[in-house]
Amino acid sequence: MTNLNVCRPLLEQHPVLKEKLPHTPLGALPTPVERLRQLEAACEARTTSLFVKRDDLSGAPYGGNKVRKLEFILPYVQAKGYKEVLTFGGAGSNHALATVLYAKKMGIGCISMLIDQPNAHSVRRNLLMSLQPNAELHLSPNMVAITAASIKELFAHKWRNGVFPYIIPPGGTFPLGMIGFVNAALELKVQVDNGELPEPDYIYAASGSMGTVVGLMLGLKLAGLKTKVAAVRVTELKFTSMKKARRLYDGTVRLLHKQDSRFPLLPFPAGDFQLNHNFYGDAYGLYTPEAMEAVQLLNETSGIHLEGTYTGKTVAALLADMKSGKLDNKTVLFWNTHNSNDFSNDIASTDYHDLPGAFHKYFEADVQPLDKGRSVSE
Ligand SMILES: *Cc1c(COP(=O)(O)O)cnc(C)c1O
Repeated sequence: MTNLNVCRPLLEQHPVLKEKLPHTPLGALPTPVERLRQLEAACEARTTSLFVKRDDLSGAPYGGNKVRKLEFILPYVQAKGYKEVLTFGGAGSNHALATVLYAKKMGIGCISMLIDQPNAHSVRRNLLMSLQPNAELHLSPNMVAITAASIKELFAHKWRNGVFPYIIPPGGTFPLGMIGFVNAALELKVQVDNGELPEPDYIYAASGSMGTVVGLMLGLKLAGLKTKVAAVRVTELKFTSMKKARRLYDGTVRLLHKQDSRFPLLPFPAGDFQLNHNFYGDAYGLYTPEAMEAVQLLNETSGIHLEGTYTGKTVAALLADMKSGKLDNKTVLFWNTHNSNDFSNDIASTDYHDLPGAFHKYFEADVQPLDKGRSVSE
């Protein structure tokens, strides 16, 4: 018998949270789990069982990991009477794009404060897709400039609309958004209980702003799973660190406990949370040879499309750990955080000249060397 209540197990298992937390089911959940048999064969992994969590299929028009956070953030914003959100990201930010698209669905405006990043086809695609009637895009060269520009926009919008925009931190990573990944781990628990996969020993996932990996860690503890999180750092140390993980974890526990005193005060499980710093390369958004090899291998063996900023680096770490013997006799789940909905039709007739002038350089200059020769729709 299918249980129709399993889609947001956190809310079903904690009726008080369901009553208190504004939530809109923006995503198509649960996402499937699949075994990666051909990848196992290609790696001659005789004793490692590899699975993928298909969060790339988490929603339309835009999948990936951000919709899980936005399901809790945007309804809260709406309930509090805000008309607009202001958020941050790299020029090709998946988070900023997801926020634009789902805010549009909910009739909310979105101001995207973006910062320069290495050029790539995906940057161009995301920028073109961000040309939406509810969106306003700004580009800054560095952190100081983006801070100043954000303050300016906050006041400009307050002046125009009478209310400040609601500020969503980079990546949608703060306790409210992370609830989406606490729920995601409970969703996985249901899949384990249904026999779709054995209880994983490890989940490999990219750590950009840490909301995904830390939210999962908390949800795994709540579910009583033994699964460890192998977080692969893809951003600068100031965005991904053990200290930040602990702060986010404790903050999310406090928020959920405050809403529902039955939610347990779980301590941060430092021993179960591993942070891998070795696959970052030289910069955020700058592809590495190992990441691009991993992208190609996954595409060839499973038809899954990854990219070089997050998921390629993550799978590169997974493959290296497999080679070293760390994953012998283990069940490993790669959490695919990258959207795989093809939106090339939606942007076919858009023109980059409709973007603010500061963004034109991404279309007029070359993409980074390791992204050359790849197609625009990949
Ligand atoms: C944003 C993003 C991540 C990182 O998620 P965080 O919660 O910010 O750590 C990973 N993969 C992809 C494809 C993303 O867009």
